[in-house]
Order: sequence, then C-alpha cells, then structure tokens
Amino acid sequence: MITREDIRELAQFQVDDELGCALSFYFQPRTPQNKSHREEAILAKDLVRNALREAEKGGKNSAARADLHRILALAESLYGNQARAKAVFACGSRNFWREFDLPPQLPGTQLFVNRRFHLKPLALLLGAQPRVAVALVSRQRARLFDFRLDELREREGLFHAVPRRSRSDGFNGYDAGHAERRVDDEAMHHFKYVAGRLKDEADKGGWEKLILGCQDSHWPEFEPHLHPYVRQRLLGRFSTDLATATNDHIREQASRIMREATGQRRQSLVREVLNQAKSNHHGVTGLRRVLRSLELGEVQTLLVGDGYKAHAVECTGCGHLDPHMVRLCPACGRATRELDDVCDAIIGNAIRLDIELLYVKDDTEFDQAGNIAALLRFRADQTKSSMAVA
Ligand SMILES: [Zn+2]
Repeated sequence: MITREDIRELAQFQVDDELGCALSFYFQPRTPQNKSHREEAILAKDLVRNALREAEKGGKNSAARADLHRILALAESLYGNQARAKAVFACGSRNFWREFDLPPQLPGTQLFVNRRFHLKPLALLLGAQPRVAVALVSRQRARLFDFRLDELREREGLFHAVPRRSRSDGFNGYDAGHAERRVDDEAMHHFKYVAGRLKDEADKGGWEKLILGCQDSHWPEFEPHLHPYVRQRLLGRFSTDLATATNDHIREQASRIMREATGQRRQSLVREVLNQAKSNHHGVTGLRRVLRSLELGEVQTLLVGDGYKAHAVECTGCGHLDPHMVRLCPACGRATRELDDVCDAIIGNAIRLDIELLYVKDDTEFDQAGNIAALLRFRADQTKSSMAVA
C-alpha cells in the first residue's frame, strides 16, 4: 500500500544530469465489465518495447534500458488474474526502483520518461483522499475500519462488547416490560459510548472523514449521540446489518459514498474559487497567477483541468517556474530549461507542500477561466497592505 511518505519521496525525486531519466510506468488491468485484459497486457508490453527502441536509438541511457527491461519483464508477468493496478517508478542511474499495487482506477496503461516522475495518475487517485474511517454500528456492537484507496482495514479492539446479561437474572418479579426497557437502556448507553469513541479517535487524528453503516431503524437512535464535530465530518451513511455485512459490501458502499462526496466537494470548490477570483479575494485563476501564488505559499487547494497541459520554463538554480519562455531566470539569473508540461512540476510541488489537489472535468466556466486555479489561505499582497494601514 502506498503511503503519503512514499508519494512525497516520489515528488521530491528529480534527475539533474543529462544521462539519467525518471521512468514512470502505470498498468491498469481490465475492469470486470471489460474483458479485454489480454489487450491491456499486450499494450503494456508494446509501450515498454517502443520506449526501449527509443532509448537504444540514442545509444546512451544504459541505465534507462536496464530499467525498461525490468519493467518489460514485469509487464510480461501481468497475465492472469491481475486485479490490482500497478505503478513502477525507476531511475537506474540513481539505483531507484519503487513498485506499488494500486486500486484498478487508473486512467489507463501508460509509460513516461522524463526528468521527474509523472504523478498525475497517483494524484488523481490520492489527491482528494482524506483519512477516512468506516464505522458499522448495531445495538450491541460496533466495528471500525480504515478506508484508503479502496482497501478496508479493521481496527480491532476499539469498541468493547456490551456485556449480554441473561434475561433470567434479577428476581422473579421482573416482567417482560422491565427486560425490554433494560435492553433499550443498554443500547442507548452503547450508542453513546460508540459516538464518544468516534469523537476521541477524530481528536487523535485517527480519521478526518467518516462513513457510517447501520440498519435504517437504528439510525434515529444513534444519530442524536453524535458530537456536532463528528456530524460535520460525516460523508454519508449506508444501510447495512453489522452481523451479516461482507467486506465487499462495505467497500462498495463506502466507495460510492466517497465518490459522491468528492464530486460534490469538487463542484462547490470550483464555484468558490471562481467567485473568489472574480472578487479578488482568496482565489486566483490562470497559470501565471497560480504559479505566483504557489511560490508565495498562499495556496490551500489547487484545481487543475483534467486535460490541462502547458509549456513553461523551470530555473535550474532556484526551481522558479515561469509561463514565459525566458532563457534566464527572472528571480536568480541562472539558466532555465523548458518543460513540455508544467503540470508535472506543479503536482510535485503540491504533494511536497501538502496542498490539496483536485482535477476538474467538463466544466465550461472553469475552462474559460484558464483551466487551472487555486484557492488561497491568504493573499500576501493584501496581508501586507492591511498591515501598512494598521
Ligand atoms: Zn532561479
């Protein structure tokens, strides 16, 4: 499983000498609906073979060739029932090789050869992934799962079981009504306890967003006990029976809720950033403004059009990115180099700086605003001017 630290390591990686290169290989297997898995595996091998031919043509790059041979061997092994997607990041000249299993949700099988790793498919997968927990609750029990990249991992021993007192205890005078009330009472205490534990876990950073599963009839009993803080972070609820729910069922429901919540969040963020930019507040649009805000450390959330690509130059000294194709860096005067697509550099920066990254699809207004935008936590120029006034 790929961790935030892994991704940060990949984002930091950059080849500066002329001979080295960073290879990024993504393999997306067939989905259950699409039976063309064989074709995917063949496509993967073709991609690598083509890259090998290119590398051999140049007559240099022996380290890259070794990497490509190793990726080819891997691609050849991808026949059979490959359920997970794969990503490989390699740089032979630096002895760097990382291989990850991913959920099969990549845009396709792809290979990239560049100075830095191509992280967009990873960012698509992870960008909008907060720490999500799934809690299943019944009147007697509760289970908590970590949900990441479509994988469920149960956290054991978080909730104690409610002691099941036998109904025959007490003395003879107990009637059925008493026993029922006592069971209700126990359920109420249990719900209260589970709600409290969920709040504690959130306070400790155990989760940022929550998905709940319970029987519909239990929800009105449980919901009032949720702390407002927990309620705010609830992405959604699904109907399930804790005693019989399978992991597949839980995963499917959680994925669906996650997708819907991300879609809604993306939509409202796009509207917000466009409004903020129009009123010159905490939003900027267009590459030039976005790059400037990134350099000033103002950016909280970065929104990029799904198919967005742009030329730019990058300073070989200070790393400054500039949309104007200048030969010398305006910041430090060192030489610049051309980037085919500035997104690779931007995504790397966003990951390193822990900036939330969202991709926007099919939004005309966003497209017209330059197809790239950022929501800012502050604006350096406005902070300064307000300080000058004060
Ligand atoms: Zn510079």
